[in-house]
Amino acid sequence: MDIVIRNGTIITAGGIFPADVGIVGERITALGEELRPELGRRLHGVVELDATGCYVLPGAIDPHVHLQMPAGHYVSSDDFTSGTVAAALGGTTTVIDFVEPKPGEPLLDALAKRRTEADGRVAVDYGLHMTVPTWHAAHPKELDALSEVVEASVPSFKLYLAYEGLRLDDAQLYRVMKAIAGAGGLPIVHCENGPICEILRAQAVAQGNTTPIYHALTRPPRQEAEAVSRAIDLAALAGSSLYVVHVSCAEAAARIAAARLQGEPIYGETCPQYLTLTVDDLDGPHGERFVCSPPLRSQADQAVLWDTLARRDLDVLATDHCPFTTDEKNGIATNGRPRPDGHADFTAIPGGLPSIEARLSLAHTLGVRAGWLTLERWVEICCTNPARIFGLRRKGQIAPGLEADLVIFDPDRRLTIQAGRTLHERVDWSPYEGLVVQGWPRDVLSRGRVIVRDGEFVGEAGWGRFVLREQG
Ligand SMILES: [Zn+2]
Repeated sequence: MDIVIRNGTIITAGGIFPADVGIVGERITALGEELRPELGRRLHGVVELDATGCYVLPGAIDPHVHLQMPAGHYVSSDDFTSGTVAAALGGTTTVIDFVEPKPGEPLLDALAKRRTEADGRVAVDYGLHMTVPTWHAAHPKELDALSEVVEASVPSFKLYLAYEGLRLDDAQLYRVMKAIAGAGGLPIVHCENGPICEILRAQAVAQGNTTPIYHALTRPPRQEAEAVSRAIDLAALAGSSLYVVHVSCAEAAARIAAARLQGEPIYGETCPQYLTLTVDDLDGPHGERFVCSPPLRSQADQAVLWDTLARRDLDVLATDHCPFTTDEKNGIATNGRPRPDGHADFTAIPGGLPSIEARLSLAHTLGVRAGWLTLERWVEICCTNPARIFGLRRKGQIAPGLEADLVIFDPDRRLTIQAGRTLHERVDWSPYEGLVVQGWPRDVLSRGRVIVRDGEFVGEAGWGRFVLREQG
């Protein structure tokens, strides 16, 4: 063996037990009591990691991140290197980002271009979802290309029901879902009713209601729930499964639970911000920072989302990590040219929050320790379900033969969240600033290589690989 992790408590979706983990090369080769490296290999630098008092988890998987993503005048501030280093330090060993083709740009060309941005720069393994925007949904040739996209190891497709230029109408949504199902893929859908939000936003601005709180008031829970219901019904009509991203409110979660009760193949995801922050943050002194879509909701919604995660009617905790700096949130453009008046109104604020680094720990502190989640369920929603749903056959579990993506998690390590100090995301604020979390990754392994040692990053940009995924 090359590495033996000793004396830890293994936490998996299926159970908790004490065991040592043996690793050869990139794979887990043994699980058992008191594993000993072979004598000959010991001379050649077998590494032993003592996990006494720690949990040993499968590497966490974040299937919803936006690194160096263009958004209007801005580009999200973490690039493929800084974002994946921060992910690694937080115990995430695989991320799935997005391809966003421009009008007229073939899907496969956009995929090749996005891969050149990430390959050689990522510190952990990564995959991609393919966005099918409005222009592509209207071009049959692009829909014919979906099976080639699936064969290129991109079997999941992001569809939007909001945002002009991205948004699909009912006919397009139906046609695209049918094409995705035919290609053996999975549609993952942003469910908000874009046209209704546009009416409410224009009304608010016309009435002089321009402050950040109106971002939430013009995207009410009911329009999200309506879009979730519509996506569920059109997926059923198209014979497709469905994954709903960033469920933010009780009403949307209820629509998903009702469909699942009927046996429909619907998956649901929520994010740390919807479990920990509220609409009041948009009314605070830095309201502009908390603009994201769907918007932050109420404390009552939070409780329902935790309960729904625990009851297994939501499957995944992902971040939707999409950081913008305080200057960008305030209306000072990326090129540094200040706009003296800041953003004219809430509709100009770039939307998105950072949280790629703290997800696992936030879920441990506010989910497990607060009594909402069992340890097994914590691992299931952060590691195992994302692997299962997105076709990562060799990740998300701990068993011989699987890739040695592992986290040695110290459940007693306390850390105060501070952007630029305890966090490594490339952004000068955190929505969780000052929060004391209990439990943080001590060591992290990616395919058998130690990339975080005692809380320090010791990996390298370029170690991460584009992952092979099989859907269905
Ligand atoms: Zn997103």
